[in-house]
Amino acid sequence: MLTFDVVVVGAGPAGAAAALAARREGATVLLLDRSDFPRDKPCGDGIASEAVTVLNALGVHGVTDGYPPVERLRLVAPGGAAVARSLPRPAHTVPRRVFDERLVRAAVAAGADLRRHTVREVHDDGTGVTVDGRFRAAVLIGADGAQSVVRRALGHAVNPPGHLAVAIRGYAPTTNTSEQVIVTTEQRWPAYAWEFPLGDGTANVGYGEVLRGAPLSKSYLRDRLDQLIPGSRPGVVRGHHLPLSTRRPSPVVGRVLLAGDALSLINPFTGEGIFYAVLSGSLAGQAAARKTDYRRALRHRLGRHLRHSSFAARLTRHSGVVDAAVEAAARDAAVFDRMVELGLGDGVFDLRTIGRIASRLGHRHPAAP
Ligand SMILES: Cc1cc2nc3c(=O)[nH]c(=O)nc-3n(C[C@H](O)[C@H](O)[C@H](O)COP(=O)(O)OP(=O)(O)OC[C@H]3O[C@@H](n4cnc5c(N)ncnc54)[C@H](O)[C@@H]3O)c2cc1C
Repeated sequence: MLTFDVVVVGAGPAGAAAALAARREGATVLLLDRSDFPRDKPCGDGIASEAVTVLNALGVHGVTDGYPPVERLRLVAPGGAAVARSLPRPAHTVPRRVFDERLVRAAVAAGADLRRHTVREVHDDGTGVTVDGRFRAAVLIGADGAQSVVRRALGHAVNPPGHLAVAIRGYAPTTNTSEQVIVTTEQRWPAYAWEFPLGDGTANVGYGEVLRGAPLSKSYLRDRLDQLIPGSRPGVVRGHHLPLSTRRPSPVVGRVLLAGDALSLINPFTGEGIFYAVLSGSLAGQAAARKTDYRRALRHRLGRHLRHSSFAARLTRHSGVVDAAVEAAARDAAVFDRMVELGLGDGVFDLRTIGRIASRLGHRHPAAP
């Protein structure tokens, strides 16, 4: 049996960040993934600047090299209103095949032991955690994504309908080089399609919606993408689930911590999960190595934001609120910035933003005399 201070299951953004953070604390780290890298992961490939900031703090630089900044966001509301403005901080579109490989290589360069292994069983006996009878850890971090085996081993169910989305994505030619485009739709709201340009004449295009119980076919999702981004014609499309942060399991059980999608850390508005993945992974890796309180660190760093984004998700279940918010953002750049920070980073609502949205709502639905 090989023994480590920290074993990380899954070498996506959450797992690589966890391995990096634990190595920075001097822990011995085993990083397990069922795939060899580089590997693909169905994703919009939109990298928020907040994710880059977390990685820089872990000593990882250049993760977006070769992919130009995307400076603007165009958001179309379910009712058709639109806003297009400069992002508060530019985003990037980096294919996950490239991005994740860069993170994993950084973790290995920092001294993590990377092995290809599909984890099937984890057993916490109170003094340590055994993985498939082969590896042993003082602390184990489950960063194995939306279908997490570690999460299941802890007895946590997958997210129920209403708190789980599904999305497809492919790559298509485009003339757009500078703008993230998000087109929301009233039909089966909450749902939206996107076009995120890579800057090389192609874009990541996709469509996703919140599941209501019944599974959705790939051809249905593809048709919806064609309707919302007409003529995009991606070649092969791939799909994946998105466990939304509106329903999260406990982040800690005994000597096992969860991070990223395994902890249902996906923004319910935007489907953003990479910033949450690197942030939660980094906090988990640090807590595992220092033997400090991960739950508390997460609450301190993200608690308020998660409360605000869940509240916003409840409000925006009525698509008219999104129409009003987009109209308010078109009139007021500060409202636009707040919405972006809530959707892509760790922002919170403020009274001014709520007031502006409420005023547009009032304008749309004047009170009956
Ligand atoms: C279509 C789509 C579009 C999206 N667009 C965006 C976007 O534009 N921007 C954004 O920020 N987020 C986006 N997301 C969300 C984002 O992809 C996830 O939040 C992010 O990948 C989470 O990272 P993670 O490290 O937690 O999990 P993952 O990236 O899923 O990594 C998990 C890793 O665990 C490994 N693994 C799984 N099971 C095992 C096992 N049993 N044993 C060993 N290894 C295992 C996998 O091989 C994988 O490498 C999108 C999601 C989807 C589905």
